[in-house]
Amino acid sequence: MAKKTIEDLDLKDKKVLVRVDFNVPLKDGVIGDDTRIKAALPTIKYVLDNNGKAILFSHLGRVKTEEDKAGKSLAPVAKRLGELLGKEVIFVPETRGAALEAAIADMKDGDVLLFENTRFEDVDGKKESKNDEELGKYWASLGDVFVNDAFGTAHRAHASNVGIASTGIPTVAGFLMEKEIKFIGEAVEDPKRPMIAILGGAKVSDKIGVIKNLIPKADKILIGGGMTYTFYAAKGMKIGKSLVETDKIDLAKELIAEAGDKLVLPIDNICAAEFSNDVPTETIEGEIEGDVMALDIGPASVALFAETLAGAKTVVWNGPMGVFEMSNFANGTIGVCEAIANLEGATTIIGGGDSAAAAEQLGFADKFTHISTGGGASLELLEGKTLPGLAAINDK
Ligand code: ADP
Ligand code: MG
Repeated sequence: MAKKTIEDLDLKDKKVLVRVDFNVPLKDGVIGDDTRIKAALPTIKYVLDNNGKAILFSHLGRVKTEEDKAGKSLAPVAKRLGELLGKEVIFVPETRGAALEAAIADMKDGDVLLFENTRFEDVDGKKESKNDEELGKYWASLGDVFVNDAFGTAHRAHASNVGIASTGIPTVAGFLMEKEIKFIGEAVEDPKRPMIAILGGAKVSDKIGVIKNLIPKADKILIGGGMTYTFYAAKGMKIGKSLVETDKIDLAKELIAEAGDKLVLPIDNICAAEFSNDVPTETIEGEIEGDVMALDIGPASVALFAETLAGAKTVVWNGPMGVFEMSNFANGTIGVCEAIANLEGATTIIGGGDSAAAAEQLGFADKFTHISTGGGASLELLEGKTLPGLAAINDK
């Protein structure tokens, strides 16, 4: 997957189109979390340091109607970016037209411009999200080269990534994109061994593609979280009121057969009578007798997982081990974080919206080699799929 990167380009005096992922949580004009803006800084600074003109654009939320535009402007992002960069960011509240073209024509080397939410082009016929050819060509015409740094949308073929690249404009990866491809790509395609995958989260159905792709590639697959109990049911074990997808039990049987002794299931669970942090909990070994639901893996499972992880050289983790949002059911996820933190010389990767949030919230973010910023895109990479946004970047 060797792709050209921003370092392969001469940026001096160039109008550099940079597709960033500024899809931040925004409420009443206030940015709830600026992680994604910060994640784009290395690429933006590189353009400026190399005397290019940075023309930035991103989507923000979903826009279907004229009314949806309210509260989805990138103006607050331009302001925050200006603070982070310590310099003026020219904001153009348009996605095309004379005002945008004039603002770009006025740019000097080292200037930064951000134009309006690319999804404002979705109001009349989904031009952005349906990869409208004319729109991709128009945006490409605004610059000399194209840097795609929006890993979070790499699994979608939109005008602002694939459309622009398809015009033949030189297209390279930004630093964030490069990092994501390097870590996730290598972990899946060419891992240092032993490679251990940890899969959890709510549902088997969300992770079927990942499990299938990783069975032949991983040395061990540890299962936790809500999907565990569909596997228990497939083994004929009692599960009480635990989460189960009855229509996936046959599939779970197939996965168990396919994975053989690679698959490691929890051996005990923390259970409660209700989905609540305010009721008593009990640790149940083996199958789950009684009218209770399993909401986390138990201490013996954490010990088993830690033992299995010892000596691992690559760890890929997607999906929390329990309902970590409630303190009574966070210990499984914490325990696995600790086991990973203790590994020496291992490349450790965690991806998925809730998994990344768990690592941050529980205080383990700096213990991982890489936390993937793209939920859907990282899942599809783990599934072994070709991401259109990535495929459209020029090969090295
Ligand atoms: P990610 O976003 O990292 O891909 P998922 O969305 O698949 O992860 O799953 C995360 C959710 O799974 C969390 O909200 C968590 O509370 C829930 N979950 C984990 N274990 C259980 C369980 N035993 N029962 C019900 N929900 C669970
Ligand atoms: Mg999720």
